[in-house]
Amino acid sequence: MASTPGSQKALLTHSCTAALEMTALLANLKPGDEVIMPSYTFVSTANAFVLRGVTPVFVDIRADTLNLDETKLDGAITARTKAIVPVHYAGVGCEMDTICAIAERNNLLVIEDAAQAVSASYKGKMLGSIGHMAALSFHETKNVICGEGGALLINDASFVERAEIIREKGTNRSKFFRGNVDKYTWVDLGSSFLPGELTAAFLAAQLDASAEILRRRLAIWNSYHVAFEELELRGVCVRPTVPRECLHNAHMYYLLLPTLALRTEFIAKMREKGINCVFHYVPLHSSPAGMKFGRISGSMDVTNDISERLVRLPLWLGLEDQQQRVIDAVRSIL
Ligand SMILES: *Cc1c(COP(=O)(O)O)cnc(C)c1O
Repeated sequence: MASTPGSQKALLTHSCTAALEMTALLANLKPGDEVIMPSYTFVSTANAFVLRGVTPVFVDIRADTLNLDETKLDGAITARTKAIVPVHYAGVGCEMDTICAIAERNNLLVIEDAAQAVSASYKGKMLGSIGHMAALSFHETKNVICGEGGALLINDASFVERAEIIREKGTNRSKFFRGNVDKYTWVDLGSSFLPGELTAAFLAAQLDASAEILRRRLAIWNSYHVAFEELELRGVCVRPTVPRECLHNAHMYYLLLPTLALRTEFIAKMREKGINCVFHYVPLHSSPAGMKFGRISGSMDVTNDISERLVRLPLWLGLEDQQQRVIDAVRSIL
């Protein structure tokens, strides 16, 4: 991990949520500051910043990758904006060149929520290694797992020293272990963001197997993609889009159905066949906490539309033996 290509430092945490909370502390964010992010994401993307009194400003997503729409960023930036938080949905990279250029012009930090993006890349760069910092997840629902776990990737070396302190309850214990100081003490804000050793040992084995995990997940993803091409041509569903410059990690396979009613019917019929399909997210801008703590910038049309029509298909290691059953079920229903 410490040698993640492109990163200065990787610090294991007990979750991606914890790593995101660390980024908000590292960025020195204060009440009243604003951070721009998609509304179509998991709650931790926003909650980590709200804990510091920051206002999440939600922008719409692109209709193709379902990632933050970079063309909406300029309109969302105010004098209070401090950072942009791109989320690499389904392990497909955001349009990082444009996002980083806009951030640089406006003197903003780029904090990647790379929770779903382990092993994926954009224009040859690993996701998580492109912004100033990034958060990865090793939660049991992700590709490389340890139950609950995550990592903070630091790509701008100026954040490394303080990150170690924040992770170690605000102490300089890491320096003490390296022999740089003869005792350790409380030097800054911090909390306990570390994973336990048993968790880390489990993760080490998963990381050793990560190339094999990626290969098998991609094979499952590709089988779905080939199988549903004909359904897409007939106009009954839309398959995921992966831009040419992105290598994805097969974190997720989803279909976009024509309407909410058809999705509800689809999920019920799949359940009758014993196949569990789920949808997400309730857009953060329409959630109770999102309305209380955040605000939107511009229209949320794509976000609202996608959240009603997206359905995820089963994708886990070991599915190989039963995948044809899932494919046949989807074909017979659609
Ligand atoms: C899973 C996920 C998280 C949270 O990860 P944890 O490790 O469970 O804290 C944050 N953001 C996104 C986009 C996620 O998918």
